[in-house]
Amino acid sequence: MSVDPLLHVDPCADLPSRDLPSRAPGHFEVLAHEGDARAGRLWTAHGPVHTPCFMPVGTYGAVKGLLREDLRSVGSQTILANAYHLTHRPGHERVRELGGLHTMMDYDGPILTDSGGFQVFSLRGLQKIDDDGVDYRTHFDGSKHRMTPESVLQVQANLGSDICMILDHCPPGDATPSQMRAAMDRTTRWAQRAATARHEILTPGQLCFGIVQGGTDSQLRGEHVQAMQGLDFDGFALGGLSVGEPVPRMHATMAEVAPTLPPHKPRYVMGIGTPWDLWKAVSCGVDMFDCVIPSRHARNGQLFTWEGRFNIKGARFRDDGAPLDHRCPCATCQRFSRAYLRHLHDSGDPLYVRLSTLHNIAFFHQFVGAMRRGLVQGNFAEVSKALFGVISDHYLPAETPHKA
Ligand SMILES: [Zn+2]
Repeated sequence: MSVDPLLHVDPCADLPSRDLPSRAPGHFEVLAHEGDARAGRLWTAHGPVHTPCFMPVGTYGAVKGLLREDLRSVGSQTILANAYHLTHRPGHERVRELGGLHTMMDYDGPILTDSGGFQVFSLRGLQKIDDDGVDYRTHFDGSKHRMTPESVLQVQANLGSDICMILDHCPPGDATPSQMRAAMDRTTRWAQRAATARHEILTPGQLCFGIVQGGTDSQLRGEHVQAMQGLDFDGFALGGLSVGEPVPRMHATMAEVAPTLPPHKPRYVMGIGTPWDLWKAVSCGVDMFDCVIPSRHARNGQLFTWEGRFNIKGARFRDDGAPLDHRCPCATCQRFSRAYLRHLHDSGDPLYVRLSTLHNIAFFHQFVGAMRRGLVQGNFAEVSKALFGVISDHYLPAETPHKA
């Protein structure tokens, strides 16, 4: 199926203008919707974010290989950094002394920070959970630390991020129903503490999002939405997805739960995904998502295009003078050939990381930006159908989603 010409426009064309009248951080407006899908605008202390929005991941305070101007050139509005990693490298207090994440990175757009809970709960055998918090040993040097609902907010206050995430208990995908319920109840208690503590710990203008758990169990998810929706948060995330469950089940959970979250607040699905995941999430009314797939896959030689995913290591690219993606306006595709990219990868040149990451992130922004514009311009159904054609032709079955 050929790609609809609707898709081939500048991914930056509809992005927030600095001239928009300013609103208080946390202000969220739905600009258009069709079915459950919606386009909106979230205000942060570092400007507005037009949703739906894909967030590239800069775990250690850098989207590997890219500068602020690179990210801006392909339409990145906001990025994600990870509090667990930054706590231990270079240290959240050191980041604060260096002026905070924005100053340290020279990045003036909105930044979302994960609480670090997901990483700590992934340290199997290296953590001990109690009702107050969790003791853990880092994967860096084995040193012992403690994380509580309050401490993760303090870390994020020191980092100075625009959107902070609460500490939640994310059980593994193979958890039993009783383990799932216990994790959910603990997350509720921790969320209640965070909803109070945020006003004492976070700085004015820092937003705080709650997280809904419950695995892929409809009953648990429904109960947790009920428990969380009245708490004082600026947005709500669906946690505990893309942790090893079958993709259709993850999609069904998103479709069931996302529309039940408070309609006047942004919705965020953590750690997705593939083009198929993003298409599904937007159609379910999800506003924000992050994933390491475009950047990590780029470094591994996997490049996303409107004609499918290429492995740039393939011998067929050795003499291929064509641009990586004819339709892509990114600097990589405008200036360099597939053969040159293959050569840079082959020779281990750091320029390969920059060019490949730039393109993959550009592709993800084009993909999500097409849906955003379709919603605002009133032709979402047409755009969505064209995008699903691309997914069906090139991006099914989905690969295993990845986490930072
Ligand atoms: Zn490109």
